[in-house]
Amino acid sequence: MWKINHSYIDGAFVPVQGQETMECLNPATEAVIGTATLAGREDARRAIAAAQRAQHSMNLTSKAERIDMLKRLQAAVLASTDEIRDTAIEEYGAPFARAQWVSRYASQSFANAAQTLESYELVRHFGDARVVMAPVGVAALIAPWNSTAGTICSKLASAIAAGCASVIKPSELSPLQTDVLARALHRAELPKGVFNILLGRGADVGDEISRSADVAKISFTGSTATGKLIARSAVETMKRVSLSLTGKSASIILDDADFDTAIALAVNAAFMNNGQACVAGTRLLVPRNLERDIIERVTAQVATMTVGQPQDPATVIGPLVNQAQFDRVQGFIRRGLEQGARLVAGGEGRPAGLNKGYYVRPTVFAHVSNDMDIAREEIFGPVLSIIAYDSDEQAIEIANASVYGLQAYVFSQQPERARRLAARLEVGSVLINRIAPELLAPFGGLKQSGVGREFGVFGLESYLEPKSIVMD
Ligand code: NAD
Repeated sequence: MWKINHSYIDGAFVPVQGQETMECLNPATEAVIGTATLAGREDARRAIAAAQRAQHSMNLTSKAERIDMLKRLQAAVLASTDEIRDTAIEEYGAPFARAQWVSRYASQSFANAAQTLESYELVRHFGDARVVMAPVGVAALIAPWNSTAGTICSKLASAIAAGCASVIKPSELSPLQTDVLARALHRAELPKGVFNILLGRGADVGDEISRSADVAKISFTGSTATGKLIARSAVETMKRVSLSLTGKSASIILDDADFDTAIALAVNAAFMNNGQACVAGTRLLVPRNLERDIIERVTAQVATMTVGQPQDPATVIGPLVNQAQFDRVQGFIRRGLEQGARLVAGGEGRPAGLNKGYYVRPTVFAHVSNDMDIAREEIFGPVLSIIAYDSDEQAIEIANASVYGLQAYVFSQQPERARRLAARLEVGSVLINRIAPELLAPFGGLKQSGVGREFGVFGLESYLEPKSIVMD
């Protein structure tokens, strides 16, 4: 049983002032595995003040000094890769392969940011002006629970590259992942206050950060509902805001796709991270004349997917994060049935043989129309909706008929046809014949999936403001 009751402020682990203690359960066993005492508003104020102090010296750092910090962070996090992986498995049931990928990507984020900064011109000339790309100031980095180390490290990497000190607020649902990561980051021995970490609830710690006049920027990843609250609070002090939010991504299979590979990739896109991924391709758009064949292939593949203990590398789908998420997903499956979709795999209840843990049966609905709840709302569980289309034009219309626009997947053997279609999709990224992202390319959403971009040069620039200095 672990017990976490500290924040990381000004380069040290300090006891939290907050009073609320919560129990943490292993979602695979429902056993209590630890307790965490949450930070409160006073802790947030102390963390912001420490970041403010550190910002003064961060403003003066050279490119080489920031690159040195990034390299130290990379080495420190790399040394903790296995521990980061194991805590993601224990705390939210991430399947082994996914947890492994995120833990590696966490350290890689620092290397990517160092590479981006290396070739980035922080000073440019326009007419008589010398334009300096200056750090925006203290940044608040607010993360969800479904990719704690990856989200925090990629945000922190861009913030440091830009010269911003930060206050990091991971989700209250990931105390153990936060603690392991905080210890790893501490080993990089950065100057005090350059990053501070608070485990607290959004309603108080998150709110305090969003309102603070001493925070210049918020980089938030989480739900659209929370993103709207943050943006409203942030505007009072004119904070710069980057929001990476909810998705309802479409995977479009064109009639010339190589079905043997496309179906496998599309099914993995839907069920990645137990379906708890913002970029999950949960609407599978298929040509109507090939629908029956595709349904057979999808259900055959789903039948081979192992649901079970997340630490077993053979497991494809582990448990959902908690009871609330389990109940929510069961509710969506019920609504799918009530609204007339045809269940072709899975369904309500737990998978056979799994009587403990928040396990959901990988579920596939066919004959889904795009106005059903299961096609409109983010479910955040292993539930896939197959929607038939009659022409490429209609596939584009269906894919775009969503308030969200985070990512889309296209499968086709004709690159030009796939690119033409990709150009018309209202999303931040389109992956063609692959589901692995390019982490040097910008990432973010259109419409209600977000504002701004992360990663690479666009991620770096979201923490910078151009300052023009004009002299005769
Ligand atoms: P959430 O919005 O409930 O919480 C995210 C973070 O915001 C947590 O740290 C939470 O404590 C904090 N928060 C809550 N209320 C706040 C407030 N009023 N002020 C400031 N902070 C507040 O999301 P979640 O359940 O943790 O994560 C799942 C959601 O995140 C899904 O919708 C998913 O699509 C989205 N997500 C998006 C991306 C992306 O890159 N677009 C990546 C991962 C997850």
